[in-house]
Amino acid sequence: MTTDTRADIRLAQLHLYVDIHLHDRYLAPPLALVAAAMLTNWVPISWAVTFVGAELLIIANYIRVYQAFKRSNAGPSDEPHWARRIALAHGAHMLAWSSLVFWAWRHDNFSSLVFIMLVHIALIAMTTTMSNAHLRTLGFDMIFPVLALLGLPLLELSWFNVGLSLLGLGFSVLMILVARQINAYSTEALQLRQRNEVLIKELESQASRDSLTGLVNRRYFLAEANQQLLAAHRSSRVLALLIIDLDHFKQINDQYGHLGGDEVLVAVVDALKQHLRTGDCLGRLGGEEFALLMPGTTQAEATETAERLRQAVAALRLNLQGHPVRQSVSIGIALLQKEDVSLPGLMHRADLAMYAAKEQGRNRVVCELPTTPPERQNLSAETAIQRA
Ligand code: GH3
Ligand code: MG
Ligand code: MG
Repeated sequence: MTTDTRADIRLAQLHLYVDIHLHDRYLAPPLALVAAAMLTNWVPISWAVTFVGAELLIIANYIRVYQAFKRSNAGPSDEPHWARRIALAHGAHMLAWSSLVFWAWRHDNFSSLVFIMLVHIALIAMTTTMSNAHLRTLGFDMIFPVLALLGLPLLELSWFNVGLSLLGLGFSVLMILVARQINAYSTEALQLRQRNEVLIKELESQASRDSLTGLVNRRYFLAEANQQLLAAHRSSRVLALLIIDLDHFKQINDQYGHLGGDEVLVAVVDALKQHLRTGDCLGRLGGEEFALLMPGTTQAEATETAERLRQAVAALRLNLQGHPVRQSVSIGIALLQKEDVSLPGLMHRADLAMYAAKEQGRNRVVCELPTTPPERQNLSAETAIQRA
């Protein structure tokens, strides 16, 4: 397991610890009230009220820390900081309960001994079940109740009390071993969950990406394009689709082999990527054919971008097996029309424009005829567009 994975697991363990302990919101305050009521057996009511008041404040504080942690979106590197804060906030609660030794213990008073020992047995059992997810915090939660359980009978030395202390020791050791065992199982479950998440991400990426170029594949691109088309219609926004095909690419394969061809494909995609804006979606439709979806893009902007893409590829100076190699692309552009209720029509028109670019000599951009006059589309005279 790498250091990163271990830190991820520790963070997941802390989340599990906090999720379990958040149940304290409902249980801890009434238990504190019951303990305070019982405490009046040995101390004045004002002391019992002080105990319950302090304990309620401590509970409110650690619940606040838990909630701050859940809201904080903490990363694995923040785990030690939060583990410390949580251990201190919850440790104060354990200390408050263990302080019952000082409030309630009376020399030669069996009921006070039973009360305090029962409280601590319950505390240790609850800590075992509720704190096992995170070992370091578990250790901190255990310190005070274990010390109180073992130490209390020894305040009044007798063989009976030594026996009680030894029973307490056996019980504490057993509970710690149980907590560690549950921790081992929950850690394994968290590791499995983490591995599954990584695998699912990998599978999703493999299902949506082309392994050679890293671009989204045909399936993902078509799904994305369909969504963008609907969104563009809904908001009456413009949308451009570019089909980009490498020129005479078969010759590269014939001359330099498939691997040489692959190198060219990767270099061309790298060059294309340099000219994309956020929101553009470039995908590999298959073979040496790519598509670029440009939401919110007018005809003028699309032709400008296409021209930049064409020039970027034409400017590539590739070297295959010691030979200089040049590559060019032909690009067809289609603009979303009101009648395009689905993608095929738009893609077909972009394809036609791309074929027209091939027919007109390749290494060029062809845009389908605009439905609105060029002046209104802001087409500049210099833009090298050929019309299909
Ligand atoms: P045109 O200018 O008319 O598009 O000619 P072209 O040679 O580019 O087109 P054609 O459809 O005849 O050839 C495309 C070639 O692309 C054929 C195929 O072997 C190659 N090809 C498809 N996918 C890959 C790939 O992943 N890697 C490599 N190296 N070649 C591929
Ligand atoms: Mg081609
Ligand atoms: Mg092709």
